Amino acid sequence: MHCKLGGAHWHFYGKAVTHLPRLPKPARCAMIQAMKIAILTGAGISAESGLGTFRDEDGLWTKYDLNEVATPEGFGRNPALAHGFYNARRANCAAASPNAAHAALAELGRCPDHDLTLITQNIDDLHERAGSTGVIHMRGELLRGLCAACDARWDAPIEMAADDPCPQCQQAATRPDVVWFGEMPYFMDDVTTAVAAADLFVAIGTSAEVYPAAGLVELARGETLELNLAPSAQAGAFDARRSGPATEIVPKWVAKLIG
Ligand SMILES: [Zn+2]
Repeated sequence: MHCKLGGAHWHFYGKAVTHLPRLPKPARCAMIQAMKIAILTGAGISAESGLGTFRDEDGLWTKYDLNEVATPEGFGRNPALAHGFYNARRANCAAASPNAAHAALAELGRCPDHDLTLITQNIDDLHERAGSTGVIHMRGELLRGLCAACDARWDAPIEMAADDPCPQCQQAATRPDVVWFGEMPYFMDDVTTAVAAADLFVAIGTSAEVYPAAGLVELARGETLELNLAPSAQAGAFDARRSGPATEIVPKWVAKLIG
């Protein structure tokens, strides 16, 4: 930019203008530092939308062998079985609706007084369908496909099959874009940075049994809160905890926070 001030006449991107452009007045709320909140959600928040949890007593891992459907080795042995499992999850997800807990977090995301980073272990899209934006899916997304040969990603159809050609390289190497056991979760740098920088870290509906997500509370430098159906294995690591169904305790907590 070249500016040449000369009385009321100056140049702005090469154009002569006669008045300095007015700066917008800062909004009053911009004077107050927005409270940084990092939230990690897990299967417990989607359970009340009818999507099965994985690790509970009647969770999905009691009905399916996770070694067969949720590891790269299992997929290598029998891709059709793994695709069948995720096709069923995708159909369940399409039939489910976001609940009051998802809606409350979307409302919190719109509040100008709070700077929210929403991180989820869930592969469903219920946060997005409730209105949240910029959700960090650290375990990938059910509704996305991934090519194991060229790393291309695309919107997955409801039914995926092992011999579907990749839209980019045409190889039959397609898989769901979900992070399996033994694979590195996505966006770990963004996740750890957001948790460490947060004034408040909240874990909602997480079983706190799977690392690295379970270890995030240890990185938090601000206040920490667990909202869960029952105290998790890590409840003692949080400053405060509330127990109950997510559809009750999450909207109540958000309402209190944003007044
Ligand atoms: Zn490909």
